[in-house]
Amino acid sequence: MSSSPIESLPLPLESEVENLVPATSTNKVIELSVVIPVYNEEDGLDALFDRLYPALDALTIGYEIIFVNDGSRDRSAAILAAQFRLRPDVTRVVLFNANYGQHAAIMAGFEHVRGDIVVTLDADLQNPPEEIGNLVAKMREGYDYVGTIRRQRQDSAWRKTASRAMNRLRERITHIKMTDQGCMLRAYSRRIVLTMNQCREINTFIPALAYTFANNPVEIEVGHEERAAGESKYSLYSLIRLNFDLVTGFSVMPLQAFGLLGIVLSLLSAMFVIFLALRRIFVGPEAEGLFTLFGIAFFLIGVLLFGIGLLGEYVGRIYQEVRARPRYIVQAILQQDE
Ligand code: UDP
Ligand code: MG
Repeated sequence: MSSSPIESLPLPLESEVENLVPATSTNKVIELSVVIPVYNEEDGLDALFDRLYPALDALTIGYEIIFVNDGSRDRSAAILAAQFRLRPDVTRVVLFNANYGQHAAIMAGFEHVRGDIVVTLDADLQNPPEEIGNLVAKMREGYDYVGTIRRQRQDSAWRKTASRAMNRLRERITHIKMTDQGCMLRAYSRRIVLTMNQCREINTFIPALAYTFANNPVEIEVGHEERAAGESKYSLYSLIRLNFDLVTGFSVMPLQAFGLLGIVLSLLSAMFVIFLALRRIFVGPEAEGLFTLFGIAFFLIGVLLFGIGLLGEYVGRIYQEVRARPRYIVQAILQQDE
C-alpha cells in the first residue's frame, strides 16, 4: 500500500491527546464505557463507526467509547482522531507510541473509564456492536461479569480446534471457567475494572483476570462475524505467547510439575538401584557394571529434576509476590453499626 494517506491526515499532537476529556454537551451521566483496542485497522474503522455509534445511541443511556490505538503503523490513529472531532461528546482516544498488544491496550483504556458498566469490543466487527445492549441488560440483572460464547464462530478451522483444546487444558490448570476464552466482547462492573487497574503485571489475559475478581459471573451467547476488513493481527507465534500468558499468568502449576516428576523419578530409580545392587551381589556384574552406572545416572537425574522443581517452588512464590495482585477481595462485611 502507498504511504501517502498517512501524510495527508495529520496525527494528533501529544498535547491534544492529553486533553481528550470531552466537554459533556449531553449532560447524561456516563453509565457505559466501551473500550476498543485498535491495531492497523484502517480498512475496517469506518464500518465499525457506522454500526457502533447508532447501536449505542439506540440504548439511550450515557456512554463513552474509548479507542486505544496500539501503535498502528497505518492510518488508524488519524482516522480515530478525525472520529474524535466528529463525536467529541462520547469519544475518547488513547494513543500508544508502539505496539504493546491487545490486552495492554485494553488495560490502558480501563485506566480512563468512567462508566459503571465497562464493555470491551474488538475493532474488526467480529463481535457485533448490536450485542452490547444485551450485555448491558444482563449486567442490570445484577451480574458483575458477563462473559460470552460465540454462537457460530467465524474463524479458520484450525484456530477453532486449537482454541477448544487449549480452553480445556487451561480450565484444568487454572480453574478459571470460561466456555469461550477467546471472545473479547465482555462486560465488567466498574469494581472489577478498578481492581484490575491495581494489578501491575505486564502480560495478562483480561477475561481471566476479571473472572478471578468476579462475584457473580454469567455467560451469554453472542453472534460472531467474519472480519469486516484486514487480517487477524495474531500470528501463530503471538497466539502461542498469549496462551502462555494465560496459563503461566494464572497458575504456577507448570513450574511445580517438575517437582512432582522429580519425586516420582527419584523413587523409581532408587528402587532400580536397589534391584541392581541386589542383582550384582547375588548374580554378579552385568555388562561389566554398565547397568550399575545407569542406575546411578537415573537416580541423579531424578534428584536433579527434583532440585529444579524445588527451585520452581521458590521462583513461583517470588513470581506471585512480584505480581502483587490484591490477595483477596471482600464481598461484604456484616457488622452492626457503631
Ligand atoms: N489488537 C491490538 N493489538 C495487537 C493485536 C490486536 O490492539 O497487537 C486489536 C485488533 O485491532 C482488534 C483486536 O485486538 O481490535 C482483536 O484482534 P484480531 O481481530 O486480530 O484477533 P482475532 O480476532 O483474530 O483473535
Ligand atoms: Mg478479530
